[in-house]
Amino acid sequence: MSTATGTSDRRRILPGARVGVLGSGQLGRMLAIAARQMGYRVHTFSPERGTPTGQVADREIVAPYDDLDAVRAFAREVEIVTFEFENIAHAAALAAAECAPVRPHGAVLHTTQHRLREKTFLTGIGVPVAPFEAVHSAAELSAALPRIGCPAVLKSAGWGYDGKGQVRIDDPARADEAWQRVGADEAVLEGFVEFECELSLVVARGLDGTVDDWGLVANEHRDHVLDVSTAPAGVASATLARAREIARAIVESLDVVGVLCVEFFAKSGGELLVNELAPRPHNSGHFTIDAAVTSQFEQQLRAVCGLPLGSCALLRPAAMANLLGDVWQHGEPSWARALAQPQVKLHLYGKGEARAGRKMGHLTALADSPAAARSTVLAARDALRPTPRG
Ligand code: AMP
Repeated sequence: MSTATGTSDRRRILPGARVGVLGSGQLGRMLAIAARQMGYRVHTFSPERGTPTGQVADREIVAPYDDLDAVRAFAREVEIVTFEFENIAHAAALAAAECAPVRPHGAVLHTTQHRLREKTFLTGIGVPVAPFEAVHSAAELSAALPRIGCPAVLKSAGWGYDGKGQVRIDDPARADEAWQRVGADEAVLEGFVEFECELSLVVARGLDGTVDDWGLVANEHRDHVLDVSTAPAGVASATLARAREIARAIVESLDVVGVLCVEFFAKSGGELLVNELAPRPHNSGHFTIDAAVTSQFEQQLRAVCGLPLGSCALLRPAAMANLLGDVWQHGEPSWARALAQPQVKLHLYGKGEARAGRKMGHLTALADSPAAARSTVLAARDALRPTPRG
């Protein structure tokens, strides 16, 4: 019998079985590719048709996430349910769990999809985060600002990612305007962190409790969206040890089975604060497809299917650059020019419309050092810009 936690049924789900993926974006696509490589079949569920995951899945089920009967019917057709998108209502995860094991279990989603619940959880287990307060109105925001201090960042409590629903506040007199811009009933006011760099650790936990990770990755953002990741991050070994200690505490306390990303702010002196958690493979771990023995997607599959985890060892230093819709603004990118560099790999997600800011794909470069990988991937991305004919 399956249960709401998805962890009490310890049977292995072996190749040939059907894996159900809630969500249908690029993360599901890369999971589906890993799953198909290992002989699994893949069903995906989302409100859209012809999706990045659907294009490579065996079945694409199109229904709203709040159609719980459709979620149950989807879960009855598969041996295991996982997700690639954390903004799925808790009720949908619970409905799926009536029919199949859901891994990671729905409570992981519930905690991590809401910034207040997530920060409360983190502080509860002693993990350092930026100072924060819950606010529910412009008046509460004005009252909280002197306590948190300026600059501060106001973030909607629910359904936020990639800087969506976020406003930086530099002047307390503009609290009303910030409250209107965030447009949420519930928000978190956070102290602005003067970080030296942003790091992430993608960590995997198997059904048997084994924990492993790919080491710290250095992340650069543009307009609040991840732009470039470089691995390994080249931090002091004490920083890596601290990140691992924090990540282990998180996945063990949440009883995660699968892959989870911990995003950190690193202050000068090496102090780490957790910015946020993503209970799934993460954009900053895409380099693992080309640069690690086991990719984060294969690892998610192995974990949720109860198989032993694969090695997270890095084959070579690597860097990943995102390709947002903006890359298409002057016409079809010059793919061949970017790929003229033989250590560069192209990943496109099969999205039809290249809207500005939309994640369309990424490039990964392998090199002898992280710095060389970074400069190679940036040069390859620059080479995508179409050249005028003639
Ligand atoms: P988030 O959606 O919370 O991951 O935020 C996206 C990006 O905004 C982060 O990766 C940081 O670059 C920046 N950011 C978010 N919160 C803060 C903060 N409290 N202090 C400084 N920068 C922040």
